[in-house]
Amino acid sequence: MSDHSSMPTARPETTRLAPSPTGALHLGNARTFLITWALARRAGWRIVLRIEDLDGPRIKPGAADDIVRTLEWLGMDWDEGPLIQSATPEPHEEAMGALARAGLAYPSDLTRTQIEAAASAPQAERGGEIVGAESRFPPELRPEGFDAPKEFDPAQSWRFVTPDEETVVEDAFMGARAVRVQRTIGDFVIWTRRGQPAYQLAVVVDDHRQGITRVVRGDDLLDSAARQMLLYRALGLGPVPGHCHLPLVVGPDGRRLAKRHGDTRVDEYRRLGAPAERLIGLVAFWSGVRERRAPMSAAEFRDGLALRTIPAGPITFTAEDDQWLRSG
Ligand code: GLU
Repeated sequence: MSDHSSMPTARPETTRLAPSPTGALHLGNARTFLITWALARRAGWRIVLRIEDLDGPRIKPGAADDIVRTLEWLGMDWDEGPLIQSATPEPHEEAMGALARAGLAYPSDLTRTQIEAAASAPQAERGGEIVGAESRFPPELRPEGFDAPKEFDPAQSWRFVTPDEETVVEDAFMGARAVRVQRTIGDFVIWTRRGQPAYQLAVVVDDHRQGITRVVRGDDLLDSAARQMLLYRALGLGPVPGHCHLPLVVGPDGRRLAKRHGDTRVDEYRRLGAPAERLIGLVAFWSGVRERRAPMSAAEFRDGLALRTIPAGPITFTAEDDQWLRSG
C-alpha cells in the first residue's frame, strides 16, 4: 500500500544552459538561453550551467567568464555550476572505453577529403551524399574487424558503429521526427584525435551524469538529437531527456545570425548603453510574448512565455530590431 503522490520523485526535472565559449554571446544565443531559463523557472526545473569547452581550437580564452557575466546581466540564474566540461575527463574516457570494448566503436583516421572522395565514387553513389557541412560516413568505409572488441586508445579518432535503423525524436516544439542516422550521417566521430570526446559523446555523458531530463536548445542541433539517442542506448544510459528544439535567429538574408550581420553580441549593445530590459523586450517580441517591442524584465518574460506562442519559423533580426537596441 503506497501513496505514490507523496513519494519523492527520484529524478528532479533538470535542464541545462550549455554555452560553448567560442566567442561572446550573441542575440540568438541570448534568446535560446532566456527561453530555456524561463521555461525552467516556470515549471520548477533545476538549471545546470555547463560550459562546453571541448571544442578544441575554437575555444576563446576569457569567453566563458564573459558569457557567465552576460547571462547574469540578463537576469538569469541557475542552481548548479558553472561546471566546466573539460574539468572531468574520466566519465568521457570511461564511456568511450565501454563502446570500444563492446565493439560499438572503431578507430578511423580517414580525412574528410578521403571520405568525400569515397562518397563520390560510383559504388557508393546511393548513400554517399554530403550532408550539410558533414560528409556521410558510409558503412563501406568501415575497416575490417570494426565490430571486434578493442582497447580504447585516446590518441586516435574513433567513430561510432551507427545501426541502420530509424530513431524517432519526440520534440516538444517540432513534434516527432524520424531520422535514419545511418543514411544521413553514417558512422559519426565520437572521439577526436586531439584526445578529447567529440560533442555528441560529451553531451550524452554529461547530460546523463548531471541528471538532465530536459534539453532545450537551437534547432541546429535537432539532427544531433537522434545521434545522441543512439549513444544513450549503446551506453545503456537512460531515460533519454525530453527534447525541445527552437528555431534560430537569422539575419535578413535568411542565414543563421553571425558576424556577417554586424556586431550582434549582447555585450556590444550593453556597451552602447542598452539596458537588459530592452534586450529582453526584443526577445519577448521574437517569442510571441509581446506584439511589439517594449522593455521587459526577466521575471515578466518568464511569466509571459509559453511554448505555444513561440513562432514556428526562424526569427529574422531586422534593422528595426538593431535600432530598438541602439536607441536605449
Ligand atoms: N554547446 C552547444 C552550443 O553552444 C549546445 C549544446 C547542446 O545544447 O546540446 O551550441
